[in-house]
Amino acid sequence: MGCLFCDIVEKKKPAKILYEDNDAIAFEDINPQSPIHVLVVPKKHISTSLDIKEEDYSLIGKLFNIANIIAKQKGVAERGFRLVMNCNRESGQTVFHIHLHVLGGRLMHWPPG
Ligand code: AMP
Ligand code: ZN
Repeated sequence: MGCLFCDIVEKKKPAKILYEDNDAIAFEDINPQSPIHVLVVPKKHISTSLDIKEEDYSLIGKLFNIANIIAKQKGVAERGFRLVMNCNRESGQTVFHIHLHVLGGRLMHWPPG
C-alpha cells in the first residue's frame, strides 16, 4: 500500500520543504493548526512510534534536533513551541509514517484537545 509521506520523501508528491538531509525532511503541514505547523519526517518508513527499534534511536534524536532548527528559523524557540507525535487511532494519527509536529506561533493549551 502506498504511503503519502514516502511519496513526499521521494518527491512524487509536492510539499513546501523547509529542511532536508540524508535522513529526514521537514515540510509545512497542509492543514495548519497554528501559525507555525511543520512536520519533521524520517526518510525511513516507520509506521507508528510503537515500531521504533533500537537501531532507530539516533534517527529519532535527529528529528528533535531538526525540530529545534525549525523552531529557531521560525523565531519561536524562545517564545515556546510544542512537539507532538500521535500514535494510533485515539491520538488522531492519520498518516502512518511517523512525524513530529512542530506547532507554534500562538499560546498552546493544556490539556490538549
Ligand atoms: P497525524 O494526524 O498526526 O497523523 O498528522 C498528519 C498530518 O499530516 C496532519 O496534520 C495533516 O494535515 C498533514 N498532511 C496530510 N496530508 C498532507 C500533505 N499532502 N502535505 C502536508 N501535510 C499533510
Ligand atoms: Zn512511509
